[in-house]
Parts: sequence; structure tokens; C-alpha cells
Amino acid sequence: MDDIKSIMYRITLIPGDGIGPEVMDAALHVLEASNLKFDYQKAWAGNACFHAMGTTIPDETIEMARKADATLFGAVTTVSGQKSAIITLRKVMNLYANLRPLKSYPGVKSIYSDLDFFIVRENSEGLYSGKEEYIMGGEGAIALRKITRNASERICRFAFEQAIKTGRNKVTAVHKANVLRKTDGIFRKAFWNVADSYPGIDAEEMYVDAAAMFMITQPHRFQVLVTTNLFGDILSDEAAGLVGGLGMVPSANIGDENGLFEPVHGSAPDIAGQGIANPTAMILSASLMLQYLGEYRESLKLEEALFKVLREGKVLTQDLGGTSSTQKMASEVRKKLEKVNRDYSKMGREGT
Ligand code: NAD
Repeated sequence: MDDIKSIMYRITLIPGDGIGPEVMDAALHVLEASNLKFDYQKAWAGNACFHAMGTTIPDETIEMARKADATLFGAVTTVSGQKSAIITLRKVMNLYANLRPLKSYPGVKSIYSDLDFFIVRENSEGLYSGKEEYIMGGEGAIALRKITRNASERICRFAFEQAIKTGRNKVTAVHKANVLRKTDGIFRKAFWNVADSYPGIDAEEMYVDAAAMFMITQPHRFQVLVTTNLFGDILSDEAAGLVGGLGMVPSANIGDENGLFEPVHGSAPDIAGQGIANPTAMILSASLMLQYLGEYRESLKLEEALFKVLREGKVLTQDLGGTSSTQKMASEVRKKLEKVNRDYSKMGREGT
């Protein structure tokens, strides 16, 4: 058996609502078989939290997330009139970069079988300011879309760095500067300013409507796509549809001080409580967390185990064409991870 590392990572867990706790349990079950030690601290957020504590995001939860080495987040149900727990966390912890890897996996029925690109979504401003007001006595409303040069340059730099880190050679900025001349004008200018510092990486820009079409017809043209908050949210759900659905796409929310990892999907009330949610996105989010913690080999092994289960196609949830429960699929991934660990030990690859 591999050595269990002595370092103990302090992880805040925010399971949330609906399928959030179900996929969180599944991911933790798999993580138990890794060679790492975790000190988990559970925290409340979301709609159930609102009914129990009168707020969707208690201050203690924010404090626990701030103090942790990393946070794992399931999903929350957002009810009209309630503050969004996840948007609040991203904002108060300054988790400005939302990284969403879009990848096809062998064995998973999907529109394309060979996609592998990233969407980088600006997380701290844009139309997610939450600032709206009624006008005309409630017969109309205005939403505030704030875009700044600083935040735009920061996210564009993150995108170029992500391209370098992952061996990509193109970054595409997506905006609608022909209509949103001031806000997206600033984003566009920031992108080209940053692009100048990365002469080795191709830079291109695209209007969001065209990008939405190319995402379907020519998705291979994207390597790293960088965009503002709302466009990033919509395009990544669209892209999820290309690689097997929302159950397949993880995400990382990264700031200078903290990292929070969550599936792209929501609380899925239509399937909550049935034990049938696909745990893949949550397991892959845990893998992104391991990378953030610098545990690249453990992340790799976790993904190898998951890919084996997907490729074999025997123990899959319904959305992937199988009949297995969330927990059964997670147990299968865990079994495979134990085997991967044994294989690595035998090959003496630990410590290399
Ligand atoms: P959703 O992502 O919850 O579900 C969309 C569809 O995808 C549903 O049919 C659902 O069954 C399916 N789906 C999602 N995840 C799945 C999984 N792991 N396995 C199998 N199928 C899966 O989006 P929605 O229905 O628009 O929103 C439901 C609630 O979630 C809303 O309250 C919304 O505000 C909230 N939401 C939260 C987050 C978050 O916590 N980060 C993100 C998006 C939506």
C-alpha cells in the first residue's frame, strides 16, 4: 500500500440542498481511498439553511471557508428573494476566476467524443451584481452590469496562464462589445492589453452569439475561452450538453487566498432524494481541489479510477445510460482507486 501522507488538509464541506449532499457523500466516499488525510468541517448554506437559521449563508460558513485549505461545495437551491449562497461566497471570498473544464470521456455518450477545452468565467462582477431595481411602478426593472478594467485584466491573465499551464496555444475572448459598447468595450480592451504580454499564445475574439453557435458546430476551435460572468455561465451549460450533460462538468472557483470546488450543476430538485444523481462532476471537482492543493498525483489517480468506471460502462447512473445509484457508482470508483493505488505501489511510481 502507498504511504498515507502525514499532512492533514483542512477542508470545509458545504453540501447544500437537493442532490448537493448526495453527490458530496459520493465524492467523500471516493476520497477516503486516496493517500491523503483530511480534516473535514461541515458548514451550512442554501435553502434548508435559510429555513433553519434565517439566512442562506451564515457568517460562520464564510469564516470556515476562508480559514480552510479548500472548500468543497455541493449545490444549493436558490429561491427568489433569497440571497444566493454561492454567489455570495464567490464575492466575499474574492474567488474571481471560475474555471470549467469541458472534456469528453470515453464510454460516455456525447455529441462529441474528443473535446477538451476550458471556459474561464469572470466570477466577481458582470450581471451577477445582484443589483436590480424596479422602475415604472414595477412595470419594468433594471439590472446593473458592472465591468471593470482591473477585474477584466485579472481574469484574462488567469486565462492566458491557464493556457500555458495546460499546453494550449489559443485564448478566445467572448463578449458582445458591438452592443454593450461600454461594459464589454472595457472587457475587450483589457483582453487585448493582456494578450500583448503573451506573444506565444494566439488571441482571438468572438461575439457571444457566434460563440454559442460555434460551440455546437465547431467546438474544437476553442482551447481556452474567457468571458464575463453571465455569458460564462450560459456557455458552460451549453458546453456541458456536448460532453454528456451537467452531471459531467466540475468547476474551480479560485482567488488569491482561497479555492472552492463545485459541480457546475445545481441542486436538481427533479431527481433529489432518489439517489440517482451522477456523482462524476462532484468527483472531478474534488480532483480539481487536489490539484489546487498541489496533490497532482492523487488527482491523476482519482481521475484514472473514474475514467475506468466510465469506460467500462457497467456501473453508471441513469443519465449516462446505466441503472446504478449514486452511491453504487461512487463505490465502484473507490474500488478502482484502491486498485490504481495498488498498481502504482507495485510499479514503484510513488515518490517519483
Ligand atoms: P440543475 O443543474 O439543478 O438541473 C438541470 C437538469 O440537469 C435537471 O434535469 C437535473 O436533473 C439534471 N442534472 C443536474 N445535475 C445532475 C446530476 N449530477 N446527475 C444527473 N442529472 C443532473 O439546474 P436547475 O434545475 O436549473 O436548477 C435547480 C436549482 O439549482 C435552482 O434552485 C437553481 O437556482 C440552483 N442552481 C444552483 C447552482 C449552484 O449551487 N452552484 C447552480 C445552478 C443552479
